[in-house]
Amino acid sequence: MSAPLRPVLAGNWKMNLGPAEAARFFGEFLAVWQPRDDRSVVFFPPAVSFAASREAVRARHDVRLGLQNVHWEAGGAFTGETSAGMAAEAGAELVLVGHSERRWVFGETTDETVKKVRAVLDAGLVPVLCVGEKIEERRAGRQDEVVRAQLAPVLQAVSLDEARSLVVAYEPVWAIGTGVNATPQDAGAMHAFVRAELAARYGHETAAAIPILYGGSVKPDNAAALLSVEGVDGVLVGGASLDPHGFAKICAA
Ligand code: PEP
Repeated sequence: MSAPLRPVLAGNWKMNLGPAEAARFFGEFLAVWQPRDDRSVVFFPPAVSFAASREAVRARHDVRLGLQNVHWEAGGAFTGETSAGMAAEAGAELVLVGHSERRWVFGETTDETVKKVRAVLDAGLVPVLCVGEKIEERRAGRQDEVVRAQLAPVLQAVSLDEARSLVVAYEPVWAIGTGVNATPQDAGAMHAFVRAELAARYGHETAAAIPILYGGSVKPDNAAALLSVEGVDGVLVGGASLDPHGFAKICAA
């Protein structure tokens, strides 16, 4: 599966909206959001709300769905986990990998993100690889080094052909759920850095084709400014994606 059309407007519901709430959300969102062929709209509901979400968007092929996490193994004794193959069978098209909450709340390592990205690609899905530095790393001027260390092992494991199915989300940890978003200048600099890392591995043409999303306290009132930054190919939205009207405004930005 190839990467979605840019700009990509993606909502990560995290551990919010059960099946009934997901159905209610889509009832309201789809009433105000009309299909547009100049952008992609994607939602990452909780796994238990995936079937209800899929049913709710059945008639709307412009809305794509993904899972927030998968395990790298195909199946077996891994209580509580979901495989990439199961995600594909359920109708997911994309999977978040290495979200900062997975890394810093659940202790997910970069080695594990590599295995997850491989599993997602092998299942024919699009991995959305999340990278980003913590506040103390930014204060120490180490953001490039940190993001390179998160990115490089994954890129080594993804071939040139497969790179066209990759999406990267730059999400500074200090901006996630804090109400403090990166300035357009900071976001632009980091997106240029990520693009250069992609180009060093795959060449400029392929690097230009890989969507790089910004995530971190994107709201209806700052989405347009962030989306207008050169190199920002979309947004990954947490909290503000839970409000159907607010998220529709972000999708229209
Ligand atoms: C996220 O969950 O990826 C995120 C960016 O969250 P928020 O928009 O709430 O900062």
